[in-house]
Amino acid sequence: MKFRLLLVVSALLTSSAAGASTDAARFASCLSGLRGEATGKGIAPATFDVLTRGLNAEMSVLDFLDDQPEFRTPIWDYLASLVDEERVADGLARRQQWAGPLADAVQRYSVDPETVIAIWGVESNYGRNFGKRPLLTSLATLSCFGRRQGYFRGEFFSTLKILASGDIAPERLVGSWAGAFGHTQFMPSTFLRLAVDGDGDGKRDLIDSVPDALASTANFLRQAGWRKGEPWGYEVLLPAGFDASLSGRRNKRPLSFWRARGVQRADGQPIAAGDSAAGLLLPAGARGPAFLVFANYDAIYGYNAAESYALAIALLADRLKGGQGLRTPWPTDDAGLSRQERRELQTLLAARGHPIGEIDGLLGANSRQAIEGEQKRLGWPVNGRAGQKLLAQLRRDAPTKSRGE
Ligand code: CA
Repeated sequence: MKFRLLLVVSALLTSSAAGASTDAARFASCLSGLRGEATGKGIAPATFDVLTRGLNAEMSVLDFLDDQPEFRTPIWDYLASLVDEERVADGLARRQQWAGPLADAVQRYSVDPETVIAIWGVESNYGRNFGKRPLLTSLATLSCFGRRQGYFRGEFFSTLKILASGDIAPERLVGSWAGAFGHTQFMPSTFLRLAVDGDGDGKRDLIDSVPDALASTANFLRQAGWRKGEPWGYEVLLPAGFDASLSGRRNKRPLSFWRARGVQRADGQPIAAGDSAAGLLLPAGARGPAFLVFANYDAIYGYNAAESYALAIALLADRLKGGQGLRTPWPTDDAGLSRQERRELQTLLAARGHPIGEIDGLLGANSRQAIEGEQKRLGWPVNGRAGQKLLAQLRRDAPTKSRGE
């Protein structure tokens, strides 16, 4: 029995070692193809050789490429962790700390300071989370294996150009699995197109220079069509029986159109007259919060093409301006958790014996498994999602001695 098991294990080891050496051979051959292609992109073979010396494939990035989310994140969960009290307080502190460079950037590019700060806050938690993967390794691997190789080759060549320019030292150039990097997580091609020198040292550095990151993000918004002095949009209230089929970011209509259909601003101010075109956003259907969105919402959307993302930036920027948040609740009886509440949940799960690992407020695989375990124990539907209900239940179930300490 044992012997047979060993045989199986050794067969697996052999086949995976063989797989790895095949991958290495394929990578080497792919890289030499890229070397030839690079010449046509203005990267000399000698430069290519220096920058890619010792480069190996890192096959684990392919897992992210093919990662299918296990379940769709409800919009209220997504926003609860991105637009929470912590991120608002941090953003206000950063706005003050970097007031000078921020003022320079928004004046130079005629954009809104709070939107720039909000992008920083969502993209890297104000510089706390850049990602740790060497860019060249990830992008070379994605250029040679998996789907979308053409796209990633463009980013790989862009990375070589960044390194060749000397703007950023190779050992500092780490980022997300897909190659986004720095305070505001630009892709390499975006960096080449839009990064600017904010602090005047002659280099464009989104990793070690906050002023460069703020100015570059301001430039991005400007190029994406930001209109100074105009709002991204605002929350609105819909009359009963409103025809939800009129919604859609791209389905822009004059404000007079919306007024005529009984749409009102949630803050009680009148909807301006005039012909400004706005789309109606219903992120959770007609029963949830509704928004009229203008061109500036589209500019934010250009940063990362997801409506939930653009809404997180917009709502965080509003909070940084002193806004109080949404008037209409999300259509759920189990609202999402802030990061502080997620950390509390993780602490409670760990106290119940679940292997959570670091209490980081990110509900990863360990946390999800623990949540499912508790849902099973409670006889609740098992889906791995935690909201206010589970947090409240675990607070009740916690031994009294560990509470209020
Ligand atoms: Ca600089």
